[in-house]
Amino acid sequence: MSRQTHKTKPSVLIIGAGIGGLTAAIALAQRGFEAHVFERAPALRAAGAGLTVQINAMKVFEALGMAQDVHKGGMVATAGALRDERGRIIAATALGDMAQRWGAPMVGIHRAVLMRILEERAHRHGVHIHTSMAFERFTEDNAGVTAHFESGRHHRGDALIGCDGLWSAVRKSLFGDAPTRYAGYTTWRGIAPRSPKPVFYEDWGPGARFGQVAIAHDQTYWYAVADAPQGAKDGDDVKGELMARFGHWAPDVREVLEATPEAAIMRTDSIDRSPIQTWGRGRVTLLGDAAHPLTPNMGQGACQAIEDALALALALEAHADPSEGLRYYETTRRQRANWFVNQSWGVGRMAHSVKATALRRCRDAIMRWTPQSLMDKTMARIANGGPV
Ligand SMILES: Cc1cc2nc3c(=O)[nH]c(=O)nc-3n(C[C@H](O)[C@H](O)[C@H](O)COP(=O)(O)OP(=O)(O)OC[C@H]3O[C@@H](n4cnc5c(N)ncnc54)[C@H](O)[C@@H]3O)c2cc1C
Repeated sequence: MSRQTHKTKPSVLIIGAGIGGLTAAIALAQRGFEAHVFERAPALRAAGAGLTVQINAMKVFEALGMAQDVHKGGMVATAGALRDERGRIIAATALGDMAQRWGAPMVGIHRAVLMRILEERAHRHGVHIHTSMAFERFTEDNAGVTAHFESGRHHRGDALIGCDGLWSAVRKSLFGDAPTRYAGYTTWRGIAPRSPKPVFYEDWGPGARFGQVAIAHDQTYWYAVADAPQGAKDGDDVKGELMARFGHWAPDVREVLEATPEAAIMRTDSIDRSPIQTWGRGRVTLLGDAAHPLTPNMGQGACQAIEDALALALALEAHADPSEGLRYYETTRRQRANWFVNQSWGVGRMAHSVKATALRRCRDAIMRWTPQSLMDKTMARIANGGPV
């Protein structure tokens, strides 16, 4: 039986209205599924400051007819550079050429803007969004799956997708508790109301990094990463502490920090989970951070969730049996997403484990002289191999 012969539209229960859950809902609704998104929070919100939507995710947005909106909502980076802490270039890339070469640009965007675009699209496609619905557990039988919520309410559908992030309750329902991994460094993020250069900078110093991304004509998104014990808290003067750590780096680092309101600075420890080989069973699966949380070092966590979303919709569309569709989705996505988890962890180690000045100079020299062919190979792997 093909999916088109169903009497009613198959319904998919999506737990979590983050970037992954909303993109999945849009991709499914576009293919004739009834998509229900259940979000724990009372309203949709964007935790975090800015985001890089990379080539691979922009290709998915293109396939979903949303690339123009994302493009307009953010800023295309025309060049990227890895610098040392004094702002001296270690390696530079013309991202404009990459867009021509790999089929899409890299866009820096405010998270709240991206969430607004996704929410507006979801409404336009008739996605049902239910807020204040904290998922608790699921039950399954031959005819469907039921999501049970903390409020005592429940909802039945043909498939259930856990898009509920790093601390996923769906993942816990499927596989029980499993330990997370702390990478050894924490990240502060903020947005400076300051005209940016359309360049994506990341500066590497001893046990610390500082990144800048243009996200609007008057907004620079920045992130600062530094070694720290897990769970450590900021004092009363975060900005002062960041200035003490990073204020003597490149002049533009000091400028963006100075321009950022203290209250807008947030801190997140870098945590992921070791890759797993099974993401679901029966009518249930995982997507995005719930399936494969990444350290932020490659800016690929949300991009991988976006890839998952389209792959899931294509798989469910191609299989009459939802369980078969979900297993097919997992097969197409697991290896690639897990590769990003491992690569991202490795980039973090490379940046943070080398502290002595002489060793850092050696590492930077190796990166400076990395052959273009090797960089192209990595770029090809990022840009290609997703669902489009
Ligand atoms: C410092 C930092 C920088 C980053 N930079 C980038 C970047 O530049 N590019 C990039 O691609 N990625 C980046 N990421 C990663 C990216 O933020 C995540 O991978 C992405 O947000 C994951 O999306 P998601 O939808 O899977 O999960 P989430 O965004 O975590 O969304 C999960 C949703 O589920 C809801 N939820 C949770 N529990 C329940 C429940 N029990 N019931 C119902 N709802 C529930 C939550 O409220 C939330 O709305 C970065 C991450 C960090 C920490």
